[in-house]
Amino acid sequence: MITTSFFELFKIGPGPSSSHTVGPMRAANRFRRNIWKFLQKTQEPTNKGFNIRVELYGALAATGHGHGTHRAIFAGLLGQEPKMVDIEQLNHYFEEPQKKYTIPFKNWNIPFEENDIFFDYSPSKYWHPNTLKFVLLKDHNTLLEEVYFSIGGGFIEKEGIKIEMLNKPLPKYPYSNFAELVAQLEKSNLSIDDFLLENEIALSERSTEGVLKGIQEIMEVMHQSVLGGLSKEGILPGGLNVSRRAKSMYENALKMESQKRYGDAFFARLNAYALATSEENADGQMVVTAPTNGAAGIIPACLEYLKNDCKMPDALLQRGLLVAGMIGYIVKENASISGAELGCQAEVGSAAAMAAALFSFVYGGDIHQISSAAEIAMEHHLGMTCDPIKGLVQVPCIERNANGAIKAYNAYLLASTRTSKPLISFDQVVEAMRQTGNDLSSKYKETARGGLAATYGMPGS
Ligand code: SF4
Repeated sequence: MITTSFFELFKIGPGPSSSHTVGPMRAANRFRRNIWKFLQKTQEPTNKGFNIRVELYGALAATGHGHGTHRAIFAGLLGQEPKMVDIEQLNHYFEEPQKKYTIPFKNWNIPFEENDIFFDYSPSKYWHPNTLKFVLLKDHNTLLEEVYFSIGGGFIEKEGIKIEMLNKPLPKYPYSNFAELVAQLEKSNLSIDDFLLENEIALSERSTEGVLKGIQEIMEVMHQSVLGGLSKEGILPGGLNVSRRAKSMYENALKMESQKRYGDAFFARLNAYALATSEENADGQMVVTAPTNGAAGIIPACLEYLKNDCKMPDALLQRGLLVAGMIGYIVKENASISGAELGCQAEVGSAAAMAAALFSFVYGGDIHQISSAAEIAMEHHLGMTCDPIKGLVQVPCIERNANGAIKAYNAYLLASTRTSKPLISFDQVVEAMRQTGNDLSSKYKETARGGLAATYGMPGS
């Protein structure tokens, strides 16, 4: 049964990666809380001799530096949460490699430095590609040890415990996949947005107003990320010398409009909005997991187009975002939204499917057209590998978001005029994505060991 809440899927947090930045920060924060409980129980009389060791495995080790995983972990150990973290501070931790920091607890101050985080590049002994181990030591003896998995989109699991499932409220209308959702929807006699709203009220334990207000807050952060990206120029951090292009793309769109090239201008606008949020993400600024940070540019771009260019009301877009979320829940529960687990098809493919459902809903599509739009968008991302150059969420990620937004719109168009029954259902394409991702070599799953990451710098550039 799907128990994911809208507010678990769409989370506000810093870039550049939900699995490598947001998830590790949340895990570190949770470990901090457990250290605190442990210290209170043991009543250790002195703070001398304590230290914390963090070990990163698999894809988390392979591309952790490029994703700022070490800085996110330190922020989490200091008690910071992704939504509230001070971005300025976060992006400057460990600038001086030997600098000694302190992690304060009430009566204890635990020293910490960058070298307390170990990137283990050897083949991982853990089943999940994004594994973190936290250890609290005193005089080199282990006092507390916890292993976490960052499973994509900022979601975390603790070894042996499904954290996100603890004390979870149940939805009003349970379903596990799209076919079950349609059956429940027909029984409920509700529209799809009211159906999802009722479920969200149950899952998030908020009132109707509380849910809609929360969605509006998410939409506002998305909007700000587009505005932020459209207003900036220059080179993105990380050493690849990738230039921001959203601003000039937007200026091009305006020029095209003045030349009455409206078709080109539409593409240019959607591209500019997607580039804008993705560039903000790459720069470590605040974005929303949609469903991940790597794919965070697609849905904001589509919302920006619908709100600012088409003048659609917020109330309709809030409900459209609920519909997009439903597609994300189904993918997450039946396959994965993590590039480290199933490749980029799981990130950008999922985001494009969600955005296609959003377009379909706000333009009046019924549940079958929504399903078809999402299916088409996902189908044409199947097999897409995750191969970020130098492990940075920049190339191919930023342009991939722009293309994802365009594909989402086209998927909606293809579905909106369809009269025949699709040969492949949404559930079937999700299963195809899962199987394809499982067959992909780990080189193509956020390890920066294959594809563009491997050919970058070869002769011929
Ligand atoms: S290639 Fe795709 S999945 Fe991989 S980091 Fe970039 S956006 Fe994420």
